[in-house]
Amino acid sequence: MKVSEMPYEHIPFDEFEKSAIEVINGVKNSKNADEVLEWREKYRELVIRYSTAMNLSYIRYSCNTADEFYVKENDYFDEIGPQVGNLMNMYNDALLNSPFRAELEEKLSPVLFKHMEVQAKAMSPEIIEDMIEENKIVSEYSKLMASMEFEFRGEKLSRAALAGYFKSDDRETRKEAYTVLGTVMNGYTEQLDDIYDRLVKVRTKMAQKLGYKNFVELGYYRMERVCYDKNDVETFRKNVLESIVPVVAKLRSENAKDLGIDKYMIYDNDVIIPGGDPRPSGNKEDIFNAAKEMYHAMSDESAAFIDLMLENEAFDVESRKNKWGGGYCTEIAKYKQPFILANFNGSADDVDVMTHEAGHAFNAFLIADNKFALEIGCGGMETAETHSMSMEFWTFPWLESFFGDKAEEYRKNHIANAIMRIPYRVGIDEFQHRIYQNPDMTPMERKAVWREIESTYMPWRTYDGNEFLEQGGYWMQNQHIFLYPFYFIDYAIAQLAAFEFYTQMRIDRKAAWDNYYKLCQAGGSAGYFQLLERCNLHNVLQEDSVKKVLSPIFEELGV
Ligand code: ZN
Repeated sequence: MKVSEMPYEHIPFDEFEKSAIEVINGVKNSKNADEVLEWREKYRELVIRYSTAMNLSYIRYSCNTADEFYVKENDYFDEIGPQVGNLMNMYNDALLNSPFRAELEEKLSPVLFKHMEVQAKAMSPEIIEDMIEENKIVSEYSKLMASMEFEFRGEKLSRAALAGYFKSDDRETRKEAYTVLGTVMNGYTEQLDDIYDRLVKVRTKMAQKLGYKNFVELGYYRMERVCYDKNDVETFRKNVLESIVPVVAKLRSENAKDLGIDKYMIYDNDVIIPGGDPRPSGNKEDIFNAAKEMYHAMSDESAAFIDLMLENEAFDVESRKNKWGGGYCTEIAKYKQPFILANFNGSADDVDVMTHEAGHAFNAFLIADNKFALEIGCGGMETAETHSMSMEFWTFPWLESFFGDKAEEYRKNHIANAIMRIPYRVGIDEFQHRIYQNPDMTPMERKAVWREIESTYMPWRTYDGNEFLEQGGYWMQNQHIFLYPFYFIDYAIAQLAAFEFYTQMRIDRKAAWDNYYKLCQAGGSAGYFQLLERCNLHNVLQEDSVKKVLSPIFEELGV
């Protein structure tokens, strides 16, 4: 069924609550483990219905944030979401405290129970009101960002469309686009400061109600990190600072020479290759055709996957006013249908949608029948981003069909870019730790922290008098900071795993695909560290691994 034709069903909360309570009591009153498992099936049906409605509503809302019906539905989910979360937590509690737990763990999976334990640490009835408040503020941010108009050379653009010009081969164009970004965002800086301040405060309040010192610990539980904690992440950041930042600094300065630039400026941030970033050689339709051919050639599973996506029109990729500005992949559980949203802007980012977001969708397709997919999805976000970032490398042999004779440039660019982004990602992570450890900072103090982090992790950044960016506002356009605290580091961790797959591919493509397939198909059914081991990947959260994983890549880059 086409995604646009999938019927939307409003979920009345009272009805949901009644059924959920029935399930919870059923679990509690079960006489044996098998009875609990029967109730689990009923629970799964309930959750499938709920998540299908919620995701369909979100898809339709994000495609048009001015659609009155779905704006209302989306607000409704913001409102009932925390209460539903609480009911799910009560169900988890019933399972965790079941007298048959040992047998259940054996029949289901110990990993599932680990996830439930972590979920329980992030939820309590006393924070429901705060969660509703948090959702409202997050929506306020999304609406504000979607409503922003950037007037560039007589055209009114969304931020995503403007960002297409950040990659122009003409330096003046890039500079002008950044000036427009700074000027427009500067007009919203107080509003953004206020939104972020309220988010930090409400998140801190929830953490304290749950007995944590600050939001950091709660943030980790929310990310469902069952294998590692903030000390491991700190070690990782330290290793990035030691092993990657100097290399990126070197790459940047060599790059400046190649580009004929005497002083590297922020508006040179997205251009690596002289003559500009390779752009797709065709239009949207060509990109879709090339993607179809590529996934057919790659493997039988990926062929079945892309056919399902195209047949059901599970893509929305045009950049439009009122459309949510980012990109994501989600699933519609009832129909076992992944869906991708993106904002094409004519740059290489458009192809990334077919290689990155499609990697998420491919994984969702593979685990649709996995018996834990509903409860633990594809695992942690570091695992999810490994699926997608590795797919970017899997697509390398077919890039000619997207970029024509610029394909080789694109490959080089992609590898360099992937390395160069890591310090920013790690910087964002450190920023969030410092913000939530000191929740009473003023907006100016927060911006000063950002400037300091930039000088540590990205000492090459200069803003050429762009007031908004000079004052430390760069992070405000990063939606993850507002929407998904502590998510960003997962991209850095996953990038290294993807690089290691890339190295594996060059040694033995078939063995590498087997490992990759194993990873995708497992979803969250095993812990992250366990998955790494199964796929012969290093654990970059441990000392030294960052260097080891990257040495073949540095060699290729000649640094
Ligand atoms: Zn992703």
